[in-house]
Amino acid sequence: MDRIDALTEHFMSTLSEQDDDLSNFKQAVRDVASDVLAVEKNDPTWSANQVLRRIAEPDRVISFRVTWADDDGNVCINRGWRVQASNAIGPYKGGLRFHPGVSLDDLRFLAFEQCFKNALTGLPLGGAKGGADFDPRGRSDAEIMRFCQAFMGKLAPYIGPDRDVPAGDINVGPREIGYLFGAWMNAAGIYDGALTGKGLSYGGSEMRVEATGYGLIYFVQAMLARRNADITGKRVAISGKGNVATHAAEKAVCEGATVVTLSDTSGTLYAPDGLSQEAIRWVQEQKAAGKDLANPPKDFGAAFRENETPWQQSADIALPCATQNEIDEDAAKSIVDAGTSLLAEGANMPTTPDALAVLRKAGVTYAPGKASNAGGVAVSGLEMSQTSHRRFMTAEEVDAALKDIMKQIHDRAADEGQSGGKIDYARGANVAAYRKLAQAITAQGVL
Ligand code: NDP
Repeated sequence: MDRIDALTEHFMSTLSEQDDDLSNFKQAVRDVASDVLAVEKNDPTWSANQVLRRIAEPDRVISFRVTWADDDGNVCINRGWRVQASNAIGPYKGGLRFHPGVSLDDLRFLAFEQCFKNALTGLPLGGAKGGADFDPRGRSDAEIMRFCQAFMGKLAPYIGPDRDVPAGDINVGPREIGYLFGAWMNAAGIYDGALTGKGLSYGGSEMRVEATGYGLIYFVQAMLARRNADITGKRVAISGKGNVATHAAEKAVCEGATVVTLSDTSGTLYAPDGLSQEAIRWVQEQKAAGKDLANPPKDFGAAFRENETPWQQSADIALPCATQNEIDEDAAKSIVDAGTSLLAEGANMPTTPDALAVLRKAGVTYAPGKASNAGGVAVSGLEMSQTSHRRFMTAEEVDAALKDIMKQIHDRAADEGQSGGKIDYARGANVAAYRKLAQAITAQGVL
């Protein structure tokens, strides 16, 4: 066992025994620990202050019952959570996820990662995540509204513009944010920026919807620029057909790339000569209508391949934008065989540790989601300042600011991760974010 492994194992043994069942959380902590513990040990102040141990133990975890009535008057009960990991550099910030599979393990891992992602943006944003084990599928609009109101009835005392500012995540989109914001405003008796992702008619930001996908492409462009390369003419394989995937596809096509795939849980839409903007809009319409990607219009030059993933197709760039752990070891081998030299994560943690080992061995340049998908939270940060100043930016201004922030995130991760002529973006992102958090945490005393 080398020194870093020994440090990491010792650190993992200091985590609370109650964390033993949290496998995703422990994996996320282990990945960060193996990159930052050597830095922590080299700084006597950071080491004495146990900075990483303090980030790994959330400030608080709020768990609550959500009681609501369905359309038939039946009383339904769900569990809600908010994990407030750290507010050392700004108000707690992170999305809300409604999904029957949501667990405390997922939310602890996502809140921990969010601390690092938000620190990388350069904006004053702490880290948090929340949600409920509520399944919105098949629920009426009135049921969704009642659930959101009941959920916020329990969460409202713990959030606010300077305290904790949730946003959307899986199954929490503009409709749910509207209901959640209305319920918060009703409980607080004031209008203020307690949530982001708000509609434009009540204080939202231009470009929030596009921000994660567009930001991903700006990040990839910055990676390519470091190699004196360009995205124009590159073949790009994208997974997913949701918000992140389709906006990444839209921006990649605008920048002259050939987007060969989009996908969903039923299969892959493959277009050997590239998807047009019209085809990408069709995918968005299918998603909005709850339909799959089978039977695309003939003039799109695209075929649907049932139960296939995008990763068998020859591509220069792979952008996993669907869900966590979607790229396992076999998928990583396919990506290597397909001739891909760059993979940047649009989703949160889509690449398993085994897959990452395959990519690294084959020399595929890898960008972790905490850096490459930070565009969404960055524009949420801009929304917070627009709401508080009551002055709104144009779409062009937000887009220019997003591009600038993604370039800065790239440069922080690349400069920190540079070694022997190569860039380890995962290590660079972890260490750059850690340094910022460590400075703030140690400056604020033993708390
Ligand atoms: P959406 O709900 O809009 O879309 C997700 C899509 O992924 C769905 O259409 C779903 O397909 C598809 N999908 C799920 N699992 C698979 C799979 N195994 N293979 C192929 N497709 C699959 O989500 P978002 O686009 O908002 O989020 C995607 C990811 O990006 C998540 O990990 C999220 O946490 C992350 N993210 C999102 C941000 C945002 O601003 N939205 C910000 C940062 C990260 P189907 O329709 O068949 O269910």
